[in-house]
Amino acid sequence: MDREFEWMLNATDLAMLLGVEETWLTELLPGPVQGVPAGRPCEGGLRPGYRWFVAGKPAALVVIGVSTELVVVGVPVVDWHGPGTPVLRTSREEVAERECLAFHRDAGRAWLKTAIRDARVMRERRFRVCVRCGERNPPEWMDSLDRWCHECAAREGAVF
Ligand SMILES: [Zn+2]
Repeated sequence: MDREFEWMLNATDLAMLLGVEETWLTELLPGPVQGVPAGRPCEGGLRPGYRWFVAGKPAALVVIGVSTELVVVGVPVVDWHGPGTPVLRTSREEVAERECLAFHRDAGRAWLKTAIRDARVMRERRFRVCVRCGERNPPEWMDSLDRWCHECAAREGAVF
C-alpha cells in the first residue's frame, strides 16, 4: 500500500468505508479526519490490513480502522520511538463486523456513536495540564513526570 496515498484519505473515504453519510459521521467525530499509514511491523504501531484514520486536532482523539471484515474504534496512544518519531497505536479497542453494521443499520450507527464517544472520553481523561503554561496536553506531549509540556520544557532548554 502506498503510504503517501493513505495520508490523503479523509472523512469522505471513511464514511464510504463505514457505509454512512459523511455529514452524519463528521458531526460525530471530534475534529478533522485524516488517513494514517499502518506502522512498519518492526515499529509496532497500527496493524496492517486495515485502512486507519484519526480524528481530532491538534492531537488525535479517536482512531478508526476498517479492514475487509471489521471496524475498530480505538483510543489513540502515541509512543516515542526516538525524538521526533511518534508511533501511533490503539488501546481499548471496540470491534464490530462490517457486515453486521450494514445489516443492522440503526444498531450499527448506535454502536459507532457510543464507541467513538467512549474512545474520545477515555483519551481526554489521559490529558494533563502543564503546570507552567496551564494548557491541557495529550500524555505524549508531556514530560515523563506529567508536569511540563514539551514546548515549555524545550523553552527551558530540555533536550529530547
Ligand atoms: Zn506548557
